[in-house]
Amino acid sequence: MNQAFQTPIEYLKGVGTTRADVLKKELGIAYFFDLLRHFPFRHIDRTRFYKINEIQPDLPYVQVLARLSHLEVLGEKHSRRLVALAKDDTGIIELVWFQGIKWIEKYLSVGKVYVLFGKPGLFNGKPQMAHPEMELYNPAALNQRGNLTLQPVYSSTEKLKQFSLDSKGIQKLMVGLLDQHGSDIEENLPAYIISQFKLMGRADAYRNIHFPDDATKLNEAERRLKFEELFLLQLKLLKNKLLRVQKFKGQVFVNVGECFNTFYQEKLPFELTGAQKKVLKEIRQDTQRGVQMNRLLQGDVGSGKTVVALMSMLIAIDNGFQTCMMAPTEILANQHYQTIKALLGDNFLEIGLLTGSTPKKTRSVLHQQLQNGELKILVGTHALIEDAVQFQNLGFVVIDEQHRFGVEQRAKLWRKNTIPPHILVMTATPIPRTLAMTLYGDLDISVIDELPAGRKPIETLHYFENQRLRTFGFMKQEIGRGRQIYVVYPLIQESEKLDLKNLEEGIEVIRREFPIPDYQVSIVHGKMPAKDKEFEMQRFVKHETQIMVATTVIEVGVNIPNASVMIIENAERFGLSQLHQLRGRVGRGADQSYCILMSSHKLSYDGKIRLDTMVRTNNGFEISEIDLQLRGPGNIEGTQQSGITDLKVADLVADQQLLILARNSVQDIFARDPQLSLPENQVLQLALQTKNSGLSWEKIS
Ligand code: ADP
Ligand code: MG
Repeated sequence: MNQAFQTPIEYLKGVGTTRADVLKKELGIAYFFDLLRHFPFRHIDRTRFYKINEIQPDLPYVQVLARLSHLEVLGEKHSRRLVALAKDDTGIIELVWFQGIKWIEKYLSVGKVYVLFGKPGLFNGKPQMAHPEMELYNPAALNQRGNLTLQPVYSSTEKLKQFSLDSKGIQKLMVGLLDQHGSDIEENLPAYIISQFKLMGRADAYRNIHFPDDATKLNEAERRLKFEELFLLQLKLLKNKLLRVQKFKGQVFVNVGECFNTFYQEKLPFELTGAQKKVLKEIRQDTQRGVQMNRLLQGDVGSGKTVVALMSMLIAIDNGFQTCMMAPTEILANQHYQTIKALLGDNFLEIGLLTGSTPKKTRSVLHQQLQNGELKILVGTHALIEDAVQFQNLGFVVIDEQHRFGVEQRAKLWRKNTIPPHILVMTATPIPRTLAMTLYGDLDISVIDELPAGRKPIETLHYFENQRLRTFGFMKQEIGRGRQIYVVYPLIQESEKLDLKNLEEGIEVIRREFPIPDYQVSIVHGKMPAKDKEFEMQRFVKHETQIMVATTVIEVGVNIPNASVMIIENAERFGLSQLHQLRGRVGRGADQSYCILMSSHKLSYDGKIRLDTMVRTNNGFEISEIDLQLRGPGNIEGTQQSGITDLKVADLVADQQLLILARNSVQDIFARDPQLSLPENQVLQLALQTKNSGLSWEKIS
């Protein structure tokens, strides 16, 4: 964008220091550029006149051509109002003003034809408009006004209005800005892209998004700016990826050796699925290239990501490297530790566990073993990334349930070796494709799209509160068959007290319904010390208890195959991905598993869709797409921290097609011209260097 747009807003004609301050404070508009990108949130249709008999309340602002037939002030004091009637050849409309009565009354004359402009409504079943703008009908003037057929409406604030910067005031500034500098807006996409995707030029697009010639032009302007935004974001992400490949060498894992082979031949208790094999092959290829791997592993709950991660770690060990696996919670770290230990069996490989509650003594032994290279596998929480943890030769890092970790934490792990280790990130549940393209756009993506054979699909039911007895009966029946049961309560920050009360009451009821000594119940919630949590978990793991009552601390990763029933209380209060994640705790053994969603009768529209979706499908990829549509990209867990989804014009839900076009096209460009050195791509070099291109680049590294 031209230099002129870097000018502080106070220098724009009609602004000055005072208004500049308010614009900055209220709307974050500090430079010309910011104003240019203060887009109208809607346009008012001046393209046609509506007939009075077409008026209905759900129309936007419209204009009506009508003759004033009556004018009268009614009411006293607070109810004082000016009421007018206007007619066209189809009917009568009532107009009403509550403010500026005197002035408006003087200005209007009965018998003349006006252009009425406003938001139509119905009052007592009759067409009405409150506070319409009135303009004496003048065909000649109307024609001259020409291009302002769709009028922009800008968001403003009370404060701004005090400085005459309501929508109209902002519009005036915008007209000034575009008149003065509109033609300086430089194109930032290559000509061949513009023609390939039939995009509007950039200067044209900025003008039309504010002051469109017509509705078609407005759409084209929007499409162009959306494409540009998505395209530049992908350009940045894929450029980062390319840079990383050029800049960072990767450890080369030459051999598949003894560890891997022993494990594969003697320890692995099942046949790998085709999808698991495919992903292992992808990782194997990555780690031979001499380039650092950054790979995202997506797979549905229970698809067997852990064993894939472990086998990749074994290859690293075969090549003389150390490995680690980082989980977001202590429970999970513990569980990975146990799982991996069990998979590896005796007399094979040592494995260490490091969490916040590892005793000092054990910790210093671990530190030692890591430094001298003795310990090959370390599992833990973010205690792993502390500076005190030094490896002799870290070569492979697995990050489980990544959305809980920030990008910086990922980067810290890189720095644990001079040549950064290969990194495998695993998500807890699938994330939608378009979100993955942005959130993890600089990573390669592997997908496990197949569940291990013989899994019976979990049967999901939705019960209301008045079906509770049925639920209890079912629980008893399943416990009688030797199964174990989770009962989960929501724990949401804002109403923690209420939630705890829910949990406590719930426990009470369950204790009464499932009394000792016939039944044993474990209880785990977030407020308990880690030690107690672990103790209760272990009782359940050892089948000393049949029921585990918990808050969502058990959400991720817990793996107890004999637990085959998941009861989710207040299910309407959970998000879809959380529900799916919770349900994934069952269905891990040979038995038919069930998930019962308990809810009150009061369901919001979204709540009903969520529960219906859960009942209908077990497919995490499908569920993640519906979740994205319901909540919007900004509310999906993990997206807030990243800031990547703070798109200004484009919408990751509505504009998925455009995003895919943009990404593919950027990929093509880098494939042909990785340095962007071809003359026709110069403009992209510039776009990458431009600070104010409308994206918060600093968040994307
Ligand atoms: P997730 O992908 O959710 O992390 P896990 O790695 O915890 O899934 O695996 C779920 C369960 O499936 C574990 O008990 C694991 O041992 C088992 N499993 C993994 N792969 C296979 C397979 N190929 N065949 C049978 N069982 C498998
Ligand atoms: Mg897992």
